[in-house]
Amino acid sequence: MTLRVYNTLTRTKELFEPVRPGRVGIYLCGPTVYKPSHIGHAVGPIIFDAIKRYLVYKDYKVQLVINITDVDDKIIAEADEQGREMSEIAAEVEADYLKCLETLGVTGVDHFPRATENIDKIIALVQRLVDNGAAYVVASDVYFDYTASPDYGKLSGRRVEDAMHGSRDLAGENKRHPADFVVWKAAKEGEPGWDSPWGRGRPGWHIECSAMSMDLLGETFDIHGGGMDLIFPHHENEIAQSEAATGKTFAKYWLHNGLTRVKTKAAGGSEKMSKSIGNIRTISELLEDFSPETIRAFVLSTHYRRPLEFSDEQLKATASSLKGFYILFHRIKFVANEDVYEEGKDITDVENEAKTKTDVAFVKEVLEHRQQFDEAMDDDFNTARAIAVLHEITGAVDKFANEESFYPRGPGNENILIAPAGRTIVKLGRIIGLFEKKPDRLVPDQPGVTDGEIEVQVAERENARKEKDFARADEIRDWLAKRGVILEDSPGGTIWRKA
Ligand SMILES: [Zn+2]
Repeated sequence: MTLRVYNTLTRTKELFEPVRPGRVGIYLCGPTVYKPSHIGHAVGPIIFDAIKRYLVYKDYKVQLVINITDVDDKIIAEADEQGREMSEIAAEVEADYLKCLETLGVTGVDHFPRATENIDKIIALVQRLVDNGAAYVVASDVYFDYTASPDYGKLSGRRVEDAMHGSRDLAGENKRHPADFVVWKAAKEGEPGWDSPWGRGRPGWHIECSAMSMDLLGETFDIHGGGMDLIFPHHENEIAQSEAATGKTFAKYWLHNGLTRVKTKAAGGSEKMSKSIGNIRTISELLEDFSPETIRAFVLSTHYRRPLEFSDEQLKATASSLKGFYILFHRIKFVANEDVYEEGKDITDVENEAKTKTDVAFVKEVLEHRQQFDEAMDDDFNTARAIAVLHEITGAVDKFANEESFYPRGPGNENILIAPAGRTIVKLGRIIGLFEKKPDRLVPDQPGVTDGEIEVQVAERENARKEKDFARADEIRDWLAKRGVILEDSPGGTIWRKA
């Protein structure tokens, strides 16, 4: 199986071949730390963490870098407003960001370089550009000369004339040409700054990413990621200045994730998530209502290149679809007396143990789905399809268990395939960071019990009664009673209520 990725640079899906065999370097543009993290800040890290996990699963040695922009006009403005130091605000917001990522299970990031800790490397890169004539000094500012990049515009497909109008720092009156951009900015009185050959100042945003990515991953590395809104000018400028400095290809594959949009009910449409519209909830706020796994699964349920339609309804829908997995895992615990979250056999380990025709067909079906999971991920990391495959396996296991009527559990009536099939779902899910640990609910030893869990128990008890296994039926009744659930048997079926 071969991995193909969509490269913004070539606008095609390409065969993935790393610069150095067996190794992959990934750089993702991180946050400017001036406001608490919202879902938009977590989308990129969740996606690229999943990408890293998949590449590791494919036996690559992967380095994932996400930078922290801790010096920037926006942080300076925020600090002024609050009457505090820039570094104080940056440290506080960064701590919140890192905590959120950790909670969301983004564990694969190898480096979080801070701009303010790499000033020497940034200055060295600017110097290199000045030395080879790709950048020029005006007073204490340093600008990149866009003509030093003959293929400027190759990533965004913009012509320089168009590009000029989108340029962030049009206000820089000292530039020779509107398409030129600042790489080192003089510090005004009272602003944070560092000494440089051109006077006291601070790095431009673009140069920061070039300096830190090349420092950690080499002058040519594999994957550069970021939101689609960063293609121009940020990434275009990163390419121009990096390649002008080294004369080498900067990043081989450019992967851009779709923007996060907030669903607006009234208009029936959606709008870009933004602070000015005020449609943002912080991650900490979201975590009060939704589990980290729900948020992660929500992000990965859309292919990364598509826009992510964010709403509480979508998160609720994701939560209820995850419950389908949890109920199955819980059911397996009863049917096969195995915890699929624990190490053990998966479907590939029991392939040859299927004897009956039904068993053989079941194993074949699960193995096919297992293959489809890899195929989905090989197709430009299609996590949405991969998760759909996991649901398909769940459906297959449920059907198999129902048809074969593995209730009640007991000697001679255990199935050796059900737990390995369930564990296959867990193992595949873990490749993209799902099912890392048992959810808080739907655990038999938990005092609380969810409605879904009760339904499972009630169904199992009915089955046991049908099989005339009254001991088992009573066992389930007692188990539920201990958790405050009362059962009432009626001719039409069993009704349950919470005491
Ligand atoms: Zn960047």
